[in-house]
Amino acid sequence: EAQKQKYLPKLASGEMVGAIAMSEPAAGSDLQGVKTTALLQADGTYLINGSKTFITNGWHADLVILVAKTDPAAGAKGTSLFLIERGMPGFEKGKRLKKLGLKAQDTSELFFDNVKVSADQLLGGTAMQGKGFICLMEQLPWERLQIAIGGIAAAQAAIDWTVQYVKDRKVFGQAVGNYQNTRYTLAELQTEVQVARVFVDKCCELIVQDKLDTATASMAKYWCSDLQCKVMDECVQLHGGYGYMWEYPITRAYADARVQRIYGGTNEIMKEVISRSMGLAGR
Ligand SMILES: Cc1cc2nc3c(=O)[nH]c(=O)nc-3n(C[C@H](O)[C@H](O)[C@H](O)COP(=O)(O)OP(=O)(O)OC[C@H]3O[C@@H](n4cnc5c(N)ncnc54)[C@H](O)[C@@H]3O)c2cc1C
Repeated sequence: EAQKQKYLPKLASGEMVGAIAMSEPAAGSDLQGVKTTALLQADGTYLINGSKTFITNGWHADLVILVAKTDPAAGAKGTSLFLIERGMPGFEKGKRLKKLGLKAQDTSELFFDNVKVSADQLLGGTAMQGKGFICLMEQLPWERLQIAIGGIAAAQAAIDWTVQYVKDRKVFGQAVGNYQNTRYTLAELQTEVQVARVFVDKCCELIVQDKLDTATASMAKYWCSDLQCKVMDECVQLHGGYGYMWEYPITRAYADARVQRIYGGTNEIMKEVISRSMGLAGR
């Protein structure tokens, strides 16, 4: 409760920007391979060492939820979450990484060199030591659904821009939108987006009732982000050369879309999660 009182009002007002630091140079999909450690000291503090990469808002962040191993030998059960504030001695921000898209937000490296924190900075208190992985697994369906929602919203915007564009653009004496190929392509994309939207609406209903399971959230994330990329690609095509120029919003939407299939767990990992829920286990 004390942590909620301290941080949540400022995060809600925007006085503090948050970030979640899971990925490391050698651990993305395989989160259990995280090497950052937070080792309990004799005086009851934790000493944190390690580094993170690809962290959204990492450079901007005032508060970072850090995934670290409190018991490196215990695998997922040795993982805990820490509240790390900007300016804590030993906590440094690395460079802002140069990205293909999503240029309005930073994606950064973070470094932890003997960062000493009190037990108050363990998210949820000392009772949560070793339960970080469970917390992440509980919250990831919401992150994945957010990616699906954003993907479908962006796809709809792209279709709307493109419908307008093909009505205005004249080729061989008529609007591009008059060609059957254009009309059928847009009709198919609109149908697929509408179908996806019904599924996403259902997922929203489930998450409000606290009933959205991991496999269903993974289906939404993978299906909607794949569809978003397909829609962007077709819409760029219908814009012709102008679709490749930054002055048109479709170009930015195309560049921004690509990472949706990668972050929040790659779409291959989503299929792992879904197939596991079907009783199919890989090696
Ligand atoms: C713009 C951006 C923002 C991000 N924001 C954050 C953030 O805020 N916080 C954070 O912690 N991380 C963040 N990430 C990291 C992101 O979550 C990881 O990049 C992602 O999980 C993939 O991990 P990786 O890059 O290590 O790829 P890898 O795990 O190395 O994967 C490489 C390829 O192997 C495939 N693969 C891996 N395992 C399997 C398997 N078991 N079966 C089949 N295929 C497999 C993957 O699908 C992928 O195609 C961000 C990344 C980007 C690009």
